Amino acid sequence: MNDNTAVISEIKRLLGDRQRLAYVRSFGCQLNVSDGEKIKGLLRKMGFGFTDDESEADLIMLNTCAVRENAEDRVFGIVGSMKKLKEQRPELMIGIAGCMTAQSHIAEKIKKSYPQVDFVLGTSAINGLPKLLLECLRGARFSADIAEYDDFSATAEQVRESTFKASVPIMFGCNNFCTYCIVPYVRGRERSRRPEDIISEVEGLVRDGYKEIMLLGQNVNSYGNDLGGEMSFPKLLRRLNEIEGDFWIRFMSSHPKDASAGLIDAIFDCEKVAKHLHLPVQSGSDDVLRRMNRRYTAEKYFGIVDEIRRRDPDFSLTTDIIVGFPDETNEDFEATLDIMERVRYDNIYSFIYSKRTGTKAAEMPDGVPEEEKGQRMRRLLALQRDISTEHYKRFIGKRMRVLADDVSKKREGFLAGKSSEFIIVEFEGDSSLIGQFVEVEVTGAMNWAVTGEIVK
Ligand code: SF4
Repeated sequence: MNDNTAVISEIKRLLGDRQRLAYVRSFGCQLNVSDGEKIKGLLRKMGFGFTDDESEADLIMLNTCAVRENAEDRVFGIVGSMKKLKEQRPELMIGIAGCMTAQSHIAEKIKKSYPQVDFVLGTSAINGLPKLLLECLRGARFSADIAEYDDFSATAEQVRESTFKASVPIMFGCNNFCTYCIVPYVRGRERSRRPEDIISEVEGLVRDGYKEIMLLGQNVNSYGNDLGGEMSFPKLLRRLNEIEGDFWIRFMSSHPKDASAGLIDAIFDCEKVAKHLHLPVQSGSDDVLRRMNRRYTAEKYFGIVDEIRRRDPDFSLTTDIIVGFPDETNEDFEATLDIMERVRYDNIYSFIYSKRTGTKAAEMPDGVPEEEKGQRMRRLLALQRDISTEHYKRFIGKRMRVLADDVSKKREGFLAGKSSEFIIVEFEGDSSLIGQFVEVEVTGAMNWAVTGEIVK
């Protein structure tokens, strides 16, 4: 536990009466966005307000993502452009947080080449933020904290971006070492939060009127493995399902190698768990899966899908796919298309493989030309468009429970929301419904959404 009370009082004293503003920008995945909310929570405790305009900020914090090298380059570009701001206003404080900083060579590079940056904060060291800010206010040229505290108390301090959808990290880190992924190197090994902390956080959110709880972890299916058998992810779902209130539970990500029968039972038994599973397959080729160190085969993956579809043929599945993994052959790629045809995903999130320094895959020879990878990606996207167009028609004439999210960007007078199945639903409605559950009868289907009319 890192008690910041004295440090925060001293910061408030040094900052004085004028309202200070912070600009906090998070890149990357939902876990990182959740960390950004924690950073904001701590800043609010220190007396900061928030702005979306960096030119009026007293503090700029970039909460970075390391998953792709071009994402890192983009952050370095933004930091470079802040040199001018710092020259104009030397009292401006600039901090870099997030996964990029967890790589010691990056922290060194920032220190050496970007003197406009005042401090660097690692992903497991968010509670160290007040101390770094204090050092900065006292005139330190550069400070860094990339220690691993294993301290999750900062979770309670979040400034949430939404009033009806909340992310709740249930674990941190990853033990899997997929060969293309940097996460285990920047977020450390798996650490599960205590179930009672998660349960009381969710109870509080439901009391505050939140309608969607998104449980987050790099691999939620191994939640509890470090808690001595006291709790597992299916057990946690069942326990959260008992909380009284009108809300639904989503979760991600779910590694297929750990997707157990117990998980499938819990999804079908718990009425508050959304009827959708995001199950990242990455490739349909056993050889590629082996070289990715995914530790399942296409057949094992089909086993999970078949069991789900046996219970509910309409159940919604989505996935992640990497196209053009090093030395992916045409046959490998065809196997991925086959898996898409067989599973019939409602949606896919696909990426062309990009080399990530520091991972094993970055050392693998790769004879596939970029142009070929681009062509494969276009074929994959075209196939998914056809599947979605056809597959979404199964909802026509059915009723869906939808959480109204926002006004439609495409049609005036329409709202857009997501159904329990994680399908985008557009329907006519008043903006006062945003943040509410509505019952929609589906009347039409496109390849990216369905349309319908409110019936309740
Ligand atoms: S399961 Fe694999 S892809 Fe996911 S975070 Fe862990 S190492 Fe990365």
